[in-house]
Amino acid sequence: MTPAYDIVIVGGGLAGACAAALLVRHAGIEPQGVALLAGELPAAAAYQAAAEQAPPELRVVAISRASERVLRAAGAWARLDQARLCAYERMRVWHQASAATGADALCFDAADIGEPNLGFIAENGALLRACIDSFRTAGGTLISAQLAAAAFGPEGASLECTDGRGMSARLLVGADGAHSLVRACAGITVRSHDYRQLAIVATVRTTRAHENTAWQRFLSTGPLAFLPLFDGSSSIVWSVDELQAPELRDGSDAQFNQRLEAALDGVLGATALASERASFALRSMAAESYVAPRCALIGDAAHVIHPLAGQGANLGLLDAAALCEAVAGASAQREDPGALRVLRGYEQQRRTHNLLMDAAMSAFHSGFGASGPAAWLINRGLGAVNRSGALKRAFARQALGTAGELPRLARASLA
Ligand SMILES: Cc1cc2nc3c(=O)[nH]c(=O)nc-3n(C[C@H](O)[C@H](O)[C@H](O)COP(=O)(O)OP(=O)(O)OC[C@H]3O[C@@H](n4cnc5c(N)ncnc54)[C@H](O)[C@@H]3O)c2cc1C
Repeated sequence: MTPAYDIVIVGGGLAGACAAALLVRHAGIEPQGVALLAGELPAAAAYQAAAEQAPPELRVVAISRASERVLRAAGAWARLDQARLCAYERMRVWHQASAATGADALCFDAADIGEPNLGFIAENGALLRACIDSFRTAGGTLISAQLAAAAFGPEGASLECTDGRGMSARLLVGADGAHSLVRACAGITVRSHDYRQLAIVATVRTTRAHENTAWQRFLSTGPLAFLPLFDGSSSIVWSVDELQAPELRDGSDAQFNQRLEAALDGVLGATALASERASFALRSMAAESYVAPRCALIGDAAHVIHPLAGQGANLGLLDAAALCEAVAGASAQREDPGALRVLRGYEQQRRTHNLLMDAAMSAFHSGFGASGPAAWLINRGLGAVNRSGALKRAFARQALGTAGELPRLARASLA
């Protein structure tokens, strides 16, 4: 007999793993009725052995205050090694036409809004493992398999894995990333835009201290971000033209270090690569709908945005929280969690918010890439924001992720 679950989540990335951990804890569903189809899983023991002295992972994310609350509710935050988190206390943003500490740079500080920090830079793999561990401990069913196909009927979804296993679910959650198979099987179309840029990611050491600050310089070729890490090094995300990227990514370390230092205008002194370099193609994508009967999309399966403000994973975590709330509401009323009416509630809460964020990222991207009079205007605009206390505080709240309508699980700390 094929196993039947209430909910199957496909994709063990941050959105899927967090949704799974939230659903077993807060949705009023029997934990064993929730399954996470997580592809290939790393051996937990191997990770534990390496973790103590391991250098920072290459992939890190800036976790907002709202996301921290969601991860606490998921039982994941307490499972993180707190010594490997880096709290960032301020952000400094400037255009290449001005200086990092000049009058036209924007600097917002957690202290300006009475907060200890603006968020944390956390390792992606550590976050995943914490969510999956919390899910497993709470009694959820973890399946190490890859989805091959899904079909939707009036009573539920039936799934087939690449290893031949089958299962069914009353609700199938697509958390399987930008190229979502769940989305395709549900017949949901997307709109997408290719920035024709690559983000180069690496860990670097700098001769000057990062001062627990996230640094971002807007160059005509794209933004360059330095995110502070727990061991004093920084994680860089350098968006460059797709034609320029291979030379930067594959050239010598010495040449890369020199160009990186110049691109940040020497603000953190000399830079030295401390990891390999990886690159990611940059595009934005929005699913035309987040839901279909018996199907909900979350995270990058529903939307992909430019990483310039480090918000993609944060949006996925808020999706997970909003979906969990919609399902909890249905459980309380003894309603079917896969009913379209229930899922529409989730979509309404998240889609407009995510579309606005995407639009803001695209506008920032084209605005800051400008030169001539437009660049002058933007430059002066940053300075004007910096001089206005109210606007600056509003920006700081945006960075914290606490502005606007939030799912309940992101509003208050539960653990
Ligand atoms: C360079 C860069 C820097 C970024 N920095 C930040 C940042 O600082 N802060 C931030 O908030 N966001 C950041 N983002 C965005 C963030 O990384 C993504 O938005 C986030 O990782 C998406 O998570 P997800 O779980 O939705 O998707 P994914 O991470 O893509 O996970 C999808 C999962 O589904 C699995 N999967 C796919 N197909 C199947 C299948 N058929 N069966 C089973 N499993 C399947 C995949 O193996 C994967 O594990 C950045 C992005 C980039 C490119």
